[in-house]
Amino acid sequence: MGEFELIRHYFATTASRQDNVVLGIGDDCALLMPPEGQQLAVSIDTLVEGIHFPVGMAAEHIATRLLGSAVSDLAAMGARPAWFTLALTLPQADPQWLEAFACALAQHALELDIVLVGGDTTRGPLVLSVQVHGFVEPDKALYRSAAREGDLIAVSGTLGDSHAGLQSLQTKAKVDLAVSWLQQRFYRPEPRVELALALAPHLHAAIDISDGLCADLQHILNSSQVGADIHLERLPLSEALCHWCTDAEQRIDSALAGGDDYELCFTLPPSRWDHCVELAAEVGVQITCIGEITDSLSLRLLNRGQIVEHSLAGYDHFKEI
Ligand code: ADP
Ligand code: MG
Repeated sequence: MGEFELIRHYFATTASRQDNVVLGIGDDCALLMPPEGQQLAVSIDTLVEGIHFPVGMAAEHIATRLLGSAVSDLAAMGARPAWFTLALTLPQADPQWLEAFACALAQHALELDIVLVGGDTTRGPLVLSVQVHGFVEPDKALYRSAAREGDLIAVSGTLGDSHAGLQSLQTKAKVDLAVSWLQQRFYRPEPRVELALALAPHLHAAIDISDGLCADLQHILNSSQVGADIHLERLPLSEALCHWCTDAEQRIDSALAGGDDYELCFTLPPSRWDHCVELAAEVGVQITCIGEITDSLSLRLLNRGQIVEHSLAGYDHFKEI
């Protein structure tokens, strides 16, 4: 199958004017029409085989992970997903792989209400990039720099699951119900779009957790010129993580520095907390208050009130070891 036939067969979508798409896949560019008065939020994410996911991971898992992690950035900005483009570098045009990938991608895109409008297809080692576009009303976006002293710090869902799921894959662990659930958390991040849209008017700063809670919260602290106290006993851990990982300290490490959670970490004035808990329940997502913003300029970890020493830096591609 040639390049053009491949694109037509697997990636031609039915984007329409309803999706604010004047012209979709098939020409030199897509032509897009953002709703009047809205800002465009844009972000790109790349996955490299062997770096971001294990060699040989199933095509459908690659697709859900790719799109889920990219859309998570829109959620973290308080933006509503609209369009995405896809740059695919493939070692070969394997019809079975492509069928599985394209199917899972289309299904996940439908669920996330985002439309494929273009891309690029080349031959080489397996590398996949997705650029996502979303809409946000002016002055409504959630900046990393908006945290204020006295804010509560909260996270969505549970932390550390995806990291544990990846570990179980790498160690070829026996797959029971808990391990299978943890692996799903790695394969299929759930971007918290509906939660972010519901809570946005009440929040100050937000970020999605891709490199680990500590590393990503640190971005908020740096941008906002503030510090934070995090209470370790409050970190939301799933039953599956507790079942898989019997060492309590390791569980906490996984939650603090594991990465790939794609949960939201956000700050808000204490007066808004009760209302946000109600709103979160309406969209079916748990939120947990794990600490508060301070004026100390540093991130402190406390275990039942006692300061804990730590060196949890999170994932940094270019860090000198
Ligand atoms: P050009 O050479 O002009 O850049 P291409 O031949 O790369 O165009 O692509 C032709 C059309 O197919 C374009 O509309 C492009 O956006 C789309 N396309 C190419 N690869 C993909 C892909 N992997 N997913 C979605 N659309 C794609
Ligand atoms: Mg062209």
